[in-house]
Amino acid sequence: MEFKDLGLSPSLLKNIRDTGYETPTPIQQATIPLVLEGKDVLGCAQTGTGKTAAFALPILQRLKEIPPRRNNAKVIRCLILSPTRELAMQTWENFQLYGKGEGLDSAVIFGGVGQGGQVEALHRGAEIVIACPGRLLDLMGQGLVRLDWVDIFVLDEADRMLDMGFIHDVRKIVRTLPEERQTLLFSATMPPEVEKLALDLLTDPENVKVDPVTSTVDAIDQCLYYVDKVNKKHLLAQLLEDPEVESALVFSRTKHGVDRIVRDLKRKGIEAAGIHGDKSQNARQTALNLFRSGKCRVLVATDIAARGIDVAGLSHVFNYDMPMEPEAYIHRIGRTGRAGRTGKAISFCCIDEVKQLNQVEKLIGKRLSLKESDWPMEVTTPTPPKVREPRPARLDRQGNALAERRQAAVAAKPAARPARPASSRPTGKVTIGRDGQIHSRPASRGTGRPVRRVNRQKRRG
Ligand code: AMP
Repeated sequence: MEFKDLGLSPSLLKNIRDTGYETPTPIQQATIPLVLEGKDVLGCAQTGTGKTAAFALPILQRLKEIPPRRNNAKVIRCLILSPTRELAMQTWENFQLYGKGEGLDSAVIFGGVGQGGQVEALHRGAEIVIACPGRLLDLMGQGLVRLDWVDIFVLDEADRMLDMGFIHDVRKIVRTLPEERQTLLFSATMPPEVEKLALDLLTDPENVKVDPVTSTVDAIDQCLYYVDKVNKKHLLAQLLEDPEVESALVFSRTKHGVDRIVRDLKRKGIEAAGIHGDKSQNARQTALNLFRSGKCRVLVATDIAARGIDVAGLSHVFNYDMPMEPEAYIHRIGRTGRAGRTGKAISFCCIDEVKQLNQVEKLIGKRLSLKESDWPMEVTTPTPPKVREPRPARLDRQGNALAERRQAAVAAKPAARPARPASSRPTGKVTIGRDGQIHSRPASRGTGRPVRRVNRQKRRG
């Protein structure tokens, strides 16, 4: 199938040609005709599949085809909600690219920077607005944005909205949209809350599912190094010396970790830029620009900061820390091996991360191929969880321990809440406690047992 078979206008086809795309990706093949028909779409796809063009191209066309709800004024006719500033910015850039010469203006709205420029862009008139929920609500509260004339609403990365706690903001925004509209919802995964949201927002939707999860995973050369925590920095620096590493995204579990990795690499003479949520928007954008322009070939990021950033032609992804949730592994390595290019995903695993590794391998259905390095794992005993010393009891005036009194009061109360049904009970969870230790509550028997670790040791030998 070619782009010209999808029903797009000649001017859009020209823009696509100018962009250099030759054939539509599966999500584009499936979604573009549906959106052009005016259907609601529930798309299960992640960044990297060509999802943005899948909705941007037909939206650009439809906005020119359907009569506006309000004549003689430039009002917001399409709203796209993005979970992160980077994704919002990237989506906006794509609209600029695909919509060249179409006569439709767009604006991007996100927090962390002054609102002046964004408000000005809105005043000039923008038919397409790409926004992060927080700043959009803020501007709506100030009476600076009206969504009464929206024809098309896109909720992008709905699962990430949920993860980041934006779902209530999203619902608040949706309540202000016209009932009659076209809605497109995209999500990489479909947890029950997102399914519920989809049911509420979409009318008779068409389901589109591309499965980049396994196909992406299969296309990527993945390997694993067992390495002690303290030696990860040496191994990373050594692997980055390989000239095959043209551009590398290094994932750290924590924001502090990002800063530390950047520092360690700099000490070894390797230029690296870091992005995480505590950095200002300007600092993040500078880091991204340095990386995108090739001035700096190593970008270190947390999962949330990296989610949605589009860096084409990435040759390597390093899992400096194993991800806490196995699904994040798929998102991480999805940054490489894009658009037909094979990439490499290299994971580092210390003894404290064996459980996460097992979860990842279970999810992708295969074991990562093991590599030897100059820093083989020597620490084979997991760091014991720190035991919290009980605080000394606080006494009331009578000399009774306050905590005990509270406990007694709790014990005296009848149990009021009925047990939750089994389906809504949380399943296994891995968390990091305040003490910095990994605490796990297995979902089912077998998770996190040391048995697998023993096997691993054997495999190494
Ligand atoms: P997205 O999933 O929208 O973030 O797109 C991922 C990457 O694929 C971006 O760099 C796009 O520019 C690129 N892309 C999108 N559609 C196509 C296509 N049909 N052919 C080649 N590359 C594409």
